[in-house]
Amino acid sequence: MKFISTRGAAVPASLSGAITSGLAADGGLFMPETLPRLPMRTFDDVESLVDVASVLLQPFFAGDVLDENLAAICTEAFTFDAPLRPLAMDADYLLELFHGPTAAFKDFGARFLAACMKRLHREDGKPLTILVATSGDTGAAVAAAFYKMPHFRVVILYPDGRVSPRQAHQLGCFGDNVRALRVAGSFDDCQRLAKLALSDPQLQQHVPLSSANSISLGRLLPQTAYYAQAALGHFRSRKALLNFVVPTGNLGNAVACILARSLGLPIGRIVFSTNANPTLREFFSGHDYAPRPSIATLANAMDVGAPSNFERLRWLYPDEELRHQFLVDAVGDDAIRATIRDRHAKYGEIFCPHTATAIRTLENLRQEGVQGDWAAVATAHPAKFEHVVEPLIGARVEMPSSLEQLPRRPSSAEPVAADFGALRDALAMR
Ligand SMILES: *Cc1c(COP(=O)(O)O)cnc(C)c1O
Repeated sequence: MKFISTRGAAVPASLSGAITSGLAADGGLFMPETLPRLPMRTFDDVESLVDVASVLLQPFFAGDVLDENLAAICTEAFTFDAPLRPLAMDADYLLELFHGPTAAFKDFGARFLAACMKRLHREDGKPLTILVATSGDTGAAVAAAFYKMPHFRVVILYPDGRVSPRQAHQLGCFGDNVRALRVAGSFDDCQRLAKLALSDPQLQQHVPLSSANSISLGRLLPQTAYYAQAALGHFRSRKALLNFVVPTGNLGNAVACILARSLGLPIGRIVFSTNANPTLREFFSGHDYAPRPSIATLANAMDVGAPSNFERLRWLYPDEELRHQFLVDAVGDDAIRATIRDRHAKYGEIFCPHTATAIRTLENLRQEGVQGDWAAVATAHPAKFEHVVEPLIGARVEMPSSLEQLPRRPSSAEPVAADFGALRDALAMR
């Protein structure tokens, strides 16, 4: 299988080429040149997440140097489950993606990417530095995935004061081959600095760099696996398609769900739930696509004004078809608060602010009379956002055991100015 650019002007890349380079040479995003359809019988007797992933991803690995390692990569990456649990209301489910080491769904992609990169990086030269700009969850997941991995370093850039206290602690607590830099600026500044560094050949002579952002093919592909496993399990037991509501920011998780459906998995409708950032809602209600600066909300990992995977959606479907196939529901902070408060009071259920957007969207759909079996996707554990959740429910949120296994050392992050010179100096320092 080869991977082609959404902009169509780059030479097709191998899987490992696409994973290593991140972005296609013409600035586009990599997509598989064909989407094979896997008949259901392909998955006969295939049940665990590792096994589903190994079967599902095989066509994409065919012919690549990583092909024979696929099962080992899946085994190494997916050391935790993605359970589908019933919610309080009949035929409503929760797909829990927060059982990894940093308690957010980013762990699936980051760990899979790390398992691939480890097998691709030549060990004779300088260590490779993974530079990652984060609004919270990505940085921790990437740090945890590459932590103590020989020949790799991680440098995290995060906006000082704009991530949750627990997120900030998580980002700074690793040490060893992980450095956290707190940038005096916004997430957009962090992203701009990372891009400048990644496209500076002079700097890269001293400090070879690679990225691990949301457009990375090595993060996108593994995210199809939990949708496949959940839909297959549901279809076997209930003989019905499973529909999904996906909390959405950069559209990485949502595009993975769409890919899983395109590959033939028994998935019905896919609805995107956003926070108050209006770019997607506007486009899907018929306006031109108009990216804009992000606004801060309670669901901070979805504070995106220019969704980086939008280009993949547009490559998959023409605009009119996109608007016909998919629905976007925007959930503002007041509705997020009310959902967290009410679902706890009524049913004892506790959701993180991102998951709460999907829950509210599902409630809205049911109110409109939508039928069928639906899963809201839970993208993070509520304990990660306890400063939002605990005051609303008036109770403590218990830490999951996964989060307690993170290194227990005092957190430390180095301050840097939102300025490329300052970042260059910081990177060259070690
Ligand atoms: C990253 C993230 C999202 C948004 O996912 P995208 O793939 O960017 O759409 C939602 N919730 C949480 C908790 C996240 O960390």
